[in-house]
Amino acid sequence: MVLPIVPYGTPVLRKKCAPVTAVTDDLRRLIADMFETMASADGVGLAAPQVGHAIQLALVDVRDIPDRPSQVWIDGREADVDAFMPLVLVNPRIQPSGKAARAGEGCLSFPDIYGDVVRPAEVEVVALNERGEECRFKGGGLLSRAIQHEVDHLNGVLFIDRMESGELARVRADVEALLARTKAAMAKSR
Ligand code: ZN
Repeated sequence: MVLPIVPYGTPVLRKKCAPVTAVTDDLRRLIADMFETMASADGVGLAAPQVGHAIQLALVDVRDIPDRPSQVWIDGREADVDAFMPLVLVNPRIQPSGKAARAGEGCLSFPDIYGDVVRPAEVEVVALNERGEECRFKGGGLLSRAIQHEVDHLNGVLFIDRMESGELARVRADVEALLARTKAAMAKSR
């Protein structure tokens, strides 16, 4: 089932998400719905708060994006990214590393708004998967960026918070218009 994605201005996007206490069938159903939602929106990542659940769960799938390469290392060895996708991250802990890289980002909660964000090029990850097993790996390129963006969501942090002031100024009018639309829609549905 494709779920509605909440837009910027919805309070759940600013919540610090609660850890998942058990990987249950209900959680796996939510994961399946989130995958369907992410695919239908053409996204490379989706965090549970974006579909209204303030829990530490996010998905990433960076396949089929030839102009934005990704790398993955497992036990220090480079592995095939496509074979490693899609990724389910439950209760992820990350350690960004490497030099700063600037690249464009979008967010499914900010339709049609894109801006450059500077983030460390690599990230060490420890997370549970959809079977509740612990996974450790290191990501690079788009995969690193997408994971850092999604884990930010689990802490109530949004990509506009990471933009440098010039970039934020460039998108500010669009962000404010989106916020006004979200608030108007919330007032109407009250
Ligand atoms: Zn996002």
